[in-house]
Amino acid sequence: MSQPTSVPASLPEPVGAPYFHYEHGELHAEGVPVGDLARQHGSPLYVYSRAALRAAWQRFEDAIDGRNALVCYGMKANSNLAVLREFARLGAGFDIVSGGELARVQAAGGDPGKVVFSGVGKQTWEIEAALRAGVRSFNVESVAELRHLSATATRLGLTAPVSLRVNPDVDAHTHPYISTGLKENKFGIAIEEAEEAYRLAAALPGLEIVGVDCHIGSQLTEISPYLDALDKLINLIDALAADGIRLHHLDIGGGVGIRYRDEQPLSLRDLLDEVFLRLAARGHGGLQLVMEPGRSLVGNAGILVTEVLYLKHAEAKNFAIVDAAMTDLIRPTLYDAWHGVLPVRTPSAGCSAKLYDIVGPVCESGDWLARDRELALRQGDLLAVESAGAYAFVMSSQYNTRPRAAEVLVDGAQAYLIREREQVPQLFAGEILPPDA
Ligand SMILES: *Cc1c(COP(=O)(O)O)cnc(C)c1O
Repeated sequence: MSQPTSVPASLPEPVGAPYFHYEHGELHAEGVPVGDLARQHGSPLYVYSRAALRAAWQRFEDAIDGRNALVCYGMKANSNLAVLREFARLGAGFDIVSGGELARVQAAGGDPGKVVFSGVGKQTWEIEAALRAGVRSFNVESVAELRHLSATATRLGLTAPVSLRVNPDVDAHTHPYISTGLKENKFGIAIEEAEEAYRLAAALPGLEIVGVDCHIGSQLTEISPYLDALDKLINLIDALAADGIRLHHLDIGGGVGIRYRDEQPLSLRDLLDEVFLRLAARGHGGLQLVMEPGRSLVGNAGILVTEVLYLKHAEAKNFAIVDAAMTDLIRPTLYDAWHGVLPVRTPSAGCSAKLYDIVGPVCESGDWLARDRELALRQGDLLAVESAGAYAFVMSSQYNTRPRAAEVLVDGAQAYLIREREQVPQLFAGEILPPDA
C-alpha cells in the first residue's frame, strides 16, 4: 500500500478536530491511529478522546468564570463509567434520569450530593435510592409525583430536596423529537400551574424546596430560547418570593448544541454573561445557576469506527454495507440526523469516488447511517462516523442479536478499553427454556 506523506486536500477536517485529525493520511484519535484501534479491538468500535472531554468541560468552566454555578453532566448522553469518572474528577455533578444512572454515578465515584434527578416517571425504588444517596435535588415533573415523593420521603423518615421542572412554553427551534419545552410536550409542570404546585410543595411533609428548573430541548444553537425561558422562570421566582418561598438554585437544563455538519454552536460565554446579568438585574444574584449539558460535553469527543463489508451498485443507488448499524447509532433513522463520515485512510490511487448510502446489516429499511456521501471505497475499508460521543452507544440495542460494540478511550498515545465487546452467548444468557410439553 502506498504511503502518502501529507494530508491530501480531499481529506475533510474532522468536526472533532484537533482531537481527531489526519496524520500521514491516517485518521488519528489524539496520538493513536484509528486503524490500529480497529485492528486491536475489532469493528464496529466507539473511540473517545479524553482530551476532547476535558476541553469540552473547560469551555463551561471558562464561561462560568468563577461565578456561582454547578454543571451537572446530563449523563444519559454517554454513561460509560470511564466518562463519568473523568467528569467527576473535574468536579462535575450529574443530571440523572433513572435509578440505574444513580448506580452508575456511585460506581464511578461521583458525588451524589451534586446529583439532580430528572424524569417524568420516577419509580418508587428509584426515589428511595436517591433519597438514601442524598441527591441534591429531585426535579419534580408533576403534582402527582410531588405527592408520591412526599409520601415516600415521609415513610423513610427523610427529607426530599425539591425543584419543580417548569414547562415555560418556549420554542427551542429544534427537531420536534428533541424539543421538550412546549405546551404539548409531556415534560414538566405548565408555568401557569407552577406557583400553585410550589404552594402545595411547601405544605406537604417530607419536602424541602430548593430550586426551580427547566429543560427546553436539545441541540439548541441559539441563545434566545434560553433567555425566554429564564425570564419566565424569574417571574415565577418573584411570585414565589411574594408567597414567602425562597429558592437556592435555578437550573436552566441542558440542550447546548454541537456542530454535526455546519451548525454554528452558540457561545457559552455570551449565554452565561447574559443569564448572570439578568439574574443580577432582577435582584437574584445570590441564586446558584445549575446547568445540565449532555451532548455538548461528549458529542464530538467520539467516533464510531466501522468496516465496509460489501459494496453494492444497484441501479438507483450505490450502497456501502458496513458492520455498524442502527443498533449502534440510531440517530440518523430516529431523527433524520446527519453525521459526518470520514475515511480512516486516504483512499488508494485509482479508486474513484461515488455517491454512497452507508447502510448496516440489520433487516430494516431504516437501517442507514448516512446518505449520498461522496466516498472512494473498497471492501474492507474503515470509516469513521463522526459525533458519536453522545446518544450513540447509550441508545444501542441488541436487535438482530447483535453484540454491542466495544468502547475505547484514548489519552495521548495510550488507548484504554473501557467496555468490552459483548459476546453472543451473553445476549441470551438470561433466557430460560420452559419444560418441553
Ligand atoms: C437529556 C437531558 C439533558 C441533556 O440534554 P443535552 O441536549 O444532551 O444537553 C439535560 N436535562 C434533562 C432533563 C434531559 O432530559
